Amino acid sequence: MVKLDGSEGEGGGQILRSALTLSALTGQPFEITKIRAGRAKPGLLRQHLTALRAAAAICGGKYSDDVTIGATELMFYPGDIRAGNYEFAVGTAGSAMLVLQTILLPLLQASEPSRVIISGGTHNPAAPPFQFVDQCFLPQLRAMGADVELSLLQYGFMPAGGGKVMATIQPCDGLKTLDILDRGSSEELIAEAYFANIPFDVAERELGHISKRLKLPKTAAQVREVKSIGPGNMLGVTARFEHVTEFISAFGRRGTRAEDVADGVADEVRAYLDGSAAVGPHLADQLLLPMAIAGGGSFTTSAPTPHTQTNASTIAEFLDINVRFEPIDKSDDVTVTVDRKI
Ligand code: AMP
Repeated sequence: MVKLDGSEGEGGGQILRSALTLSALTGQPFEITKIRAGRAKPGLLRQHLTALRAAAAICGGKYSDDVTIGATELMFYPGDIRAGNYEFAVGTAGSAMLVLQTILLPLLQASEPSRVIISGGTHNPAAPPFQFVDQCFLPQLRAMGADVELSLLQYGFMPAGGGKVMATIQPCDGLKTLDILDRGSSEELIAEAYFANIPFDVAERELGHISKRLKLPKTAAQVREVKSIGPGNMLGVTARFEHVTEFISAFGRRGTRAEDVADGVADEVRAYLDGSAAVGPHLADQLLLPMAIAGGGSFTTSAPTPHTQTNASTIAEFLDINVRFEPIDKSDDVTVTVDRKI
């Protein structure tokens, strides 16, 4: 039984979600205590409980019946991964994307195709928005040999939720290793301001401001009105390169000026574009699991985040895999190498 301390490192939900993925894949049961102890509201939220239920459903896993919202410890016993038509509902605006990421890698190992529909939030702060998974994460997974299609059926923003995503996942005969050491040539830089049920001018001001900051031509800035059950607004910049795409985003909130939202995104985009590391901080922590399952991989990134470091430690609890961080010259950048322990 793998024993995990959920307060270690980042101390967030990722420790539980990665453990569920790795447990389903390796067949090793685990026990986790102090779940999300590093967060303001520790314990399981709806999103984590849904990830737990989803992981159990796709591998016939078991956990104790009394595990519910707020639980700070649990044990999980995986079974055999099975393909199927699955539907999961977070039940709040909690991130459907994070639930999907929990079960995606195990379902690649099933013997038949699966279709998964998840309802909840598709555009949440502190989680990958749909566009990030679709444009940044999945293309790298495809480069490793995975055949996954993703569609957004309905936008769901915090706090109302009501979003829906659908993924079709084909069986994969083992993921291939992947190296993303440089970005390659620049192909596109565009800003998009998504909004639902709020005044149009908020999105327009965000775009105007970010276009000025990033010197974008008019053709590279788009307002996108979307349908959703509640209000919502996300400003996102896609930086597409030959070997990697980054999607840098922020959410508009009541009381936060559109220009401030745009400044936050512009600062992050500038930091990424001015640097030379291939992979941004969020993609970095999310690539570790597929690379570990593939048995190898590498990428360059800026200073590793607590999420990246903590995910590396969680992986080491389940797999004979090393994640090494080697500084590049005298910068904060590192080369991250995932390989088998010898
Ligand atoms: P946790 O905070 O432990 O629940 O993990 C959150 C996950 O969401 C991590 O994999 C983060 O990298 C990811 N994440 C948070 N914000 C973003 C963002 N803006 N874009 C992409 N991924 C994100």
